Amino acid sequence: TSFAHFGFDEQLLSQIRKSEYTQPTPIQCQGVPIALSGRDMIGIAKTGSGKTAAFIWPMLVHIMDQKELEQGEGPIAVIVCPTRELCQQIHSECKRFGKVYGLRSVAVYGGGSMWEQAKALQEGAEIVVCTPGRLIDHVKKKATSLQRVTYLVFDEADRMFDMGFEYQVRSIASHVQPDRQTLLFSATFRKKIERLARDILVDPIRVVQ
Ligand code: AMP
Repeated sequence: TSFAHFGFDEQLLSQIRKSEYTQPTPIQCQGVPIALSGRDMIGIAKTGSGKTAAFIWPMLVHIMDQKELEQGEGPIAVIVCPTRELCQQIHSECKRFGKVYGLRSVAVYGGGSMWEQAKALQEGAEIVVCTPGRLIDHVKKKATSLQRVTYLVFDEADRMFDMGFEYQVRSIASHVQPDRQTLLFSATFRKKIERLARDILVDPIRVVQ
């Protein structure tokens, strides 16, 4: 598989070429077509596999399809991950690829300034990358709303569970409309993750790195 097989437009392809990636990684080869089809997906993949791009590229296509249909406020895509570092990494990839369509990303994570994050959210962004507790804080304070979200990603779900975020993860899933696409990534597929997948995904396809 080459990047051109994914059916991306020339703008996105040229940005991918600029990244000097020579070919898609295995998780991208398997995951991108599934994510593009609109199906829910479980990706068993570790850091370094290229999993981030595997959910970001289809996300951009999804947003561009939705944007014309949906008016309103708040993000169209939300990516939930365990740590500030991961949040910043994913956010920077969202910006790098999202800019080809003029899409905006905001990162909100614990330890950062509530006020500055709230201001960034209110300025508007199609993409929010967050840690679970902090996103909920912002929603409670009405700095943002999840009503427009139709693409929801949980990255490193097993690590979020290890950090005690299970309740927050489930709470976020329950606040996003059921008619959405959900992607769940985890390095391991334990009983607890399996149960989460059963509860928050619909008829998912499983991809193993
Ligand atoms: P990730 O597993 O998403 O954390 O990605 C690990 C690293 O691989 C990141 O620095 C990405 O920029 C890079 N990467 C993602 N996709 C590819 C690819 N197809 N070829 C080479 N590097 C990639």
